[in-house]
Amino acid sequence: MKRPTILVLGAGYGGLTTAVNLQKMVSGEEAEIILVNKNDYHYETTWLHEVGAGTIAPDAARYPIAKVINNNVRFVQASVEGIDVNERKVQTTAGEMTYDYLVLGLGFEGETFGIPGLDKYALSLANLNAARQIREHIEYQFASWSLDEVKDDSKLTIIVGGAGFTGIELLGELGNRVPELCKEFDIPQEKVRVLCVEAAPMVLPGFDPTLVEYAKTQLSKKGIEFSIGTPVVEATEEGVKIKKGEDEFEFVKAGTVIWAAGVRGNKLVETSGIESNRARIAVRKDMRAPGFDDVFVVGDCAFLLNEEAGRPYPPTAQIAMQQAVTIARNIKHLMNDEDTEEFVYDDKGAVCSLGHDDAIADAVGRKMAGKKASALKKIVDNRALYLVGGVGLTVKKGKFKFI
Ligand SMILES: Cc1cc2nc3c(=O)[nH]c(=O)nc-3n(C[C@H](O)[C@H](O)[C@H](O)COP(=O)(O)OP(=O)(O)OC[C@H]3O[C@@H](n4cnc5c(N)ncnc54)[C@H](O)[C@@H]3O)c2cc1C
Repeated sequence: MKRPTILVLGAGYGGLTTAVNLQKMVSGEEAEIILVNKNDYHYETTWLHEVGAGTIAPDAARYPIAKVINNNVRFVQASVEGIDVNERKVQTTAGEMTYDYLVLGLGFEGETFGIPGLDKYALSLANLNAARQIREHIEYQFASWSLDEVKDDSKLTIIVGGAGFTGIELLGELGNRVPELCKEFDIPQEKVRVLCVEAAPMVLPGFDPTLVEYAKTQLSKKGIEFSIGTPVVEATEEGVKIKKGEDEFEFVKAGTVIWAAGVRGNKLVETSGIESNRARIAVRKDMRAPGFDDVFVVGDCAFLLNEEAGRPYPPTAQIAMQQAVTIARNIKHLMNDEDTEEFVYDDKGAVCSLGHDDAIADAVGRKMAGKKASALKKIVDNRALYLVGGVGLTVKKGKFKFI
């Protein structure tokens, strides 16, 4: 009998965890496992706000894929360019590939909701290089302000669109980074403005209100301004236009605009032949795509309803890594002609950092804020490393400065 080919697209939390679990369960004789990823490294998407603000180096947030896969997995560094699930074919920059089982884990893209100018003028935390670009853009603005003979202080204004999880984590890092930058570039701190603009009437929807209040207070102490319930309606080269009231608009000039207000699945999903909404596929209970028994979807490309709450689970690394374990097991089940298992989410809660030294947490049955929550965040980050690469990777890349 032909050895089946298992093709895993994307080496993010979902794809890499699937590959790492498969390599423990399926030998090279039983199946060919191919992992395709744009880069030869995995980056910790959940650390990108730190790279973007410049509080950690880009290299700290990545590690070589080769370090965590064994000989059972063939890694191909290539960009996926097209997926056709009806023909069981995937087009990549390394050529066309076919499969018996496909795992689609190509992650997220920023959602700009059709707001004019955002695609062109706003930066985003879409991947490691995009985060690096934010860091360098901010530094460039600070450096050129210092050189300018006629100074335009709006160069030192940073606008963050979105007060959800990603926006708040980024603001926390910026709150710590701005004083460092000011020292580095000899800029009086009062010249710098960091403004968070959010369309919804609240910050961090879904989080406990007391913790949200704590987060807002802490960020305000670091000089972060909030404009809540005021949607961005346009971005230009100069800044953003904000809707302040029925017929009231304000244009805020800014040297840096970062859009962190929503994600969708990878656009390749939309032309794959599987039905999707905002490039997210409503998966069946065993994580397979509707109508395609040989296609699994993991992470931010998957849409899964929390039936109890009547709304979808938010796309997180936590759920992506758990889905990956079920997917690996289900592929093994299918290879053995066994029934597949249902994915059951074990929600461990959420921890939102407010810089490296502060956080809020509603996790492991407790609500916490401050240093304890911040220590928990580092434990969560280290756990993700441990689950993929064991003790060695955790020791090498982990975060151990708890105070
Ligand atoms: C700043 C930030 C902070 C976050 N914090 C948290 C948190 O604290 N906790 C939490 O649980 N979640 C958090 N999230 C969400 C979490 O990071 C995502 O839900 C998670 O990364 C999804 O995993 P994934 O495998 O679907 O995608 P990703 O981890 O994004 O991986 C996708 C992979 O696919 C690759 N890829 C993409 N396109 C192609 C292509 N065309 N060809 C080849 N390869 C490609 C990418 O290079 C990448 O390796 C955060 C997200 C951000 C941006």
